[in-house]
Amino acid sequence: MPARPIPVTEANLIEIFSSIQGEGPYLGYRQLFIRFAHCNLSCTYCDTPFAPVSACRVETAPGSESFSSLKNPVSHKSIETLLEDWVGGSPDLHHSLSLTGGEPLLQVPVLLDWLPMMRNYLPIYLETNGSLPAQLKSLLPWLDYISMDIKLPSISGHELWDEHREFLGLARQKTVFVKVVFAQTTPLSEIETAARLVAETAPDVDLILQPCTQSSGIKLTTGQMLKAQQVAVTYHPKTRVIPQTHNFLGVL
Ligand code: SF4
Repeated sequence: MPARPIPVTEANLIEIFSSIQGEGPYLGYRQLFIRFAHCNLSCTYCDTPFAPVSACRVETAPGSESFSSLKNPVSHKSIETLLEDWVGGSPDLHHSLSLTGGEPLLQVPVLLDWLPMMRNYLPIYLETNGSLPAQLKSLLPWLDYISMDIKLPSISGHELWDEHREFLGLARQKTVFVKVVFAQTTPLSEIETAARLVAETAPDVDLILQPCTQSSGIKLTTGQMLKAQQVAVTYHPKTRVIPQTHNFLGVL
């Protein structure tokens, strides 16, 4: 029997949990995370699970680190019930609701259905690879914060400069920052191009250089991180180096 089409009120999710934001300028805030399945890129360093699964794992209570499961696809009603429970029960706990992935912007129809309801509970914080400007445009009215990546060609395997420029031009209508993950082998010319793109498109926006972190830690030397920042600030003074912190905090 062919699989039934997924209604636009349901989505394939990977996990739902409450944790500390571990990256970027909002590092340390408590967030409710909803991780969507599917991604349109395949970055070399990616260690995030985004392949569709039959059941989404859901924390039994915010921060409990114990999980039950919810059959995929997950419905609008299930999400609303969970938000009523978690946010209604602890209204001041979470700074925002993080839509993460994978790439959440691959799910525009369901997000158009879910976001007005979700925003009744928490501000919406979108974590995105920044490559899908048309999809962003349709969701902009419902977004509060945008954490946008610029994916460097040596890491994503794609030249996405035009898509990133258009995306940032739209995203700057909201509270946005740009994150660039860089590794030992990243050409400084790519850091320069990214910094110029941000300076030309949204000079008021923070650029976060994030040293690539894997389970074995950060391989970049201090000198490499300082050099990358030196190159970036030449074009975009609002550049900071902020590492990913999930691993050493031991949080999700
Ligand atoms: S965009 Fe994010 S989730 Fe997708 S492959 Fe790259 S790092 Fe992984």
